[in-house]
Amino acid sequence: MLNQTYMFENAVAPSNQKIAKMSITRLANIPITPPPYRDRPNKEGAMLLRVETNDGVVGWATSGYTHPVIVDLIDKYITPRILGEDPFRTERIPLLFDRHTYERPLGRAFVSAMALVDIALWDIKGKTLGKPVHVLLGGARDRVPVYVTHGAAYDGAQTYSAEELAAEAAYLVKLGNTHVKNTVGRQAIPDPKDDYRRMKAMREAIGPDVKLSMDGNLRMSISEAVRLCKLCEELDIAFIEEPIYYNDPATLAHLRSQTTISVAAAENEKFTALQLLQAGAVDFIQPNINNDGGLSASLRIAAIARAFNIPLGHGNGNGPHNIALHAGIGNGGLVEYHYHKWMAYNALFEEVPQPEDGWLRVSLKPGFGLEPKDGVIKEYSV
Ligand SMILES: [Mg+2]
Repeated sequence: MLNQTYMFENAVAPSNQKIAKMSITRLANIPITPPPYRDRPNKEGAMLLRVETNDGVVGWATSGYTHPVIVDLIDKYITPRILGEDPFRTERIPLLFDRHTYERPLGRAFVSAMALVDIALWDIKGKTLGKPVHVLLGGARDRVPVYVTHGAAYDGAQTYSAEELAAEAAYLVKLGNTHVKNTVGRQAIPDPKDDYRRMKAMREAIGPDVKLSMDGNLRMSISEAVRLCKLCEELDIAFIEEPIYYNDPATLAHLRSQTTISVAAAENEKFTALQLLQAGAVDFIQPNINNDGGLSASLRIAAIARAFNIPLGHGNGNGPHNIALHAGIGNGGLVEYHYHKWMAYNALFEEVPQPEDGWLRVSLKPGFGLEPKDGVIKEYSV
């Protein structure tokens, strides 16, 4: 058991570099180009944190969770406690709050706010040392495999027809993509047979050599998920993501025993990564550094997963920041190109890695290599 009181009160060596300024901005109405078979949504939002040190190093971060309460959490609760801290001490900074867990506000928003801080500090570490973040983590590889998620319907937009899904998947494959993913279980009442028909249309459109996966977004019962997987096995599905309500570990483990399709989870956390791993619930696990307490927290999940001989994948909208994790560590790998969210990164940041023949090349710039374009804060802040 971690002795937090001791950890916190232990003397800390003085540092010349200190966190001097933090500013958080909520961005909205960022124009994006939607995928070809839908014209909506054509706008995205984002949360952008800027942290500056007393010696002028600037770190940036975005979060997946964009609730406006994060602005207050950063400004009024987190910033006052960490100004003056050494930005390299990313294991110390959460401890400053762990002593106050009884007053820790707003669950997921707090975890996302701390993720923003952690990511910006890792960006500062890289820039101070002149190294890319993935090299600081161990630098396992300089490119990562990528899959493209498309076909999601938002803002009340009508669900894609099977024909539209198939045509869009074929278009994405023509661009050189080697792995596509679509959502299943989106109907008001999940309909495995209809989902099978949609996945089959995609498989027929992309041919046998492109990888095809599906994401259930926590919308199915065990019987629906088993039925869908049994139907889809003949389609050579690479993985099914988060099919079961609440990511319940025992139910996911049961599904895994019933199908040859790989099962992935942990994007939308309800249970902990440790609970999923102990239950044998997943073939790979999907932390997101932007939602789950930062890069530091995902490194802990990666270490636990390694003890279970389980690799990490990525499933969420913050792909560009997550590349560093998957390139850095031995059991990292697959990164998601979430079509709409990646477009928002393209709109906000100067250089964003783009898929080439199924791979993303990792930025070799110091830090994460993600620098906002001039003027985006002014233009899109709300
Ligand atoms: Mg997902």
